[in-house]
Amino acid sequence: MDFKIVPLPADKMKTKIADQSQLGFGKYFTDRMLLVEWQKERGWYDARIKPYEPFTLDPACVVFHYAQEIFEGLKAYKWADGRIALFRPEMNARRFNQSAERMCLPEVPEELFLKGIEQLVSLEQEWIPTAEGTSLYIRPTMIAVEPFLGVHPSSHNYFYVILSPVGAYYSAGFNPIKIMVEDKYVRAVPGGTGEAKTGGNYASSLKAGEEAQKKGYAQVLWLDGRERRFIEEVGAMNMFFAYGDTIVTAPLAGSILSGVTRDSVLKLAPTLGYKVEERPIDVNELFADIKSGRVTEAFGSGTAAVISPVGTLCYKNEAIQLTGGTVGEITRKMYDTLTGIQTGKLQDDFGWVRFVA
Ligand SMILES: *Cc1c(COP(=O)(O)O)cnc(C)c1O
Repeated sequence: MDFKIVPLPADKMKTKIADQSQLGFGKYFTDRMLLVEWQKERGWYDARIKPYEPFTLDPACVVFHYAQEIFEGLKAYKWADGRIALFRPEMNARRFNQSAERMCLPEVPEELFLKGIEQLVSLEQEWIPTAEGTSLYIRPTMIAVEPFLGVHPSSHNYFYVILSPVGAYYSAGFNPIKIMVEDKYVRAVPGGTGEAKTGGNYASSLKAGEEAQKKGYAQVLWLDGRERRFIEEVGAMNMFFAYGDTIVTAPLAGSILSGVTRDSVLKLAPTLGYKVEERPIDVNELFADIKSGRVTEAFGSGTAAVISPVGTLCYKNEAIQLTGGTVGEITRKMYDTLTGIQTGKLQDDFGWVRFVA
């Protein structure tokens, strides 16, 4: 499929943020976007890269009422030699289609997904920030735009991609965060949509997040929806716990997201001398193991923060510190290695980097 490039009028060109330390996350968007449409009778059509601008949508659109939508998140990095690198974008293409399948949205051919992103990023490359820790965040999305109030899969959908220059996730340095184990609300249940990157999962998590923030916690750690006993994941991060040199994470059993960063940690760990285990983690055992000193570190993994050290966990009003509130050795090693590969400072032995032509 060819992408039509719609000219960018001078009045749609924005001023770039000069001070890259002020970028934050997801606040600024580039000049252009990718848009491709799909209709039941036609399949995919009208692939175009056009000025970034609002959609005009019918208030009856399926996405507004029944949340038939999915998204992805990945990053582009500008290397010191000028090349533009994407990190394992094929994984995002595949996961996008798994989410699509669950939400009765059409599959996007991998080639369309990857080539569309590459062309858009290439056209917008002036927007990729270069300061330490910065990158261009890529947000592929699909929304159901058929105007119809019956509950059924939409016959008309938009696949679009927008780009956001983002800052170092840790503006105040790579510091441990405080996490609250959620024992009232649940995020996902077996058979539900927990494994899909779909808006409803995040809408239903807002309340718990807000209550945790009021108590001084940055995020909530979800327990399984059936027994509220086994560790699942954090808002947009998978979780890891270090038992000495063994790194343990919850298995992909259908209700947690299969993170690209999670998979990368699992593959990288053995090359750094660590063992990995994917097994159910009982929250009571976890707390006992933290207290006894068997668990020495905890960290989250996700595209936005890459690796996020956890300094405090709170469960049923009991707050407990990890690694003495500092960043653990394994956590730092993972962060340095992953970001090193992504930015071209370390060799990519896995073939994870894909350059934008
Ligand atoms: C996106 C996301 C993750 C992390 O996935 P990555 O591919 O590593 O960015 C983990 N959990 C949830 C719920 C997510 O939405």
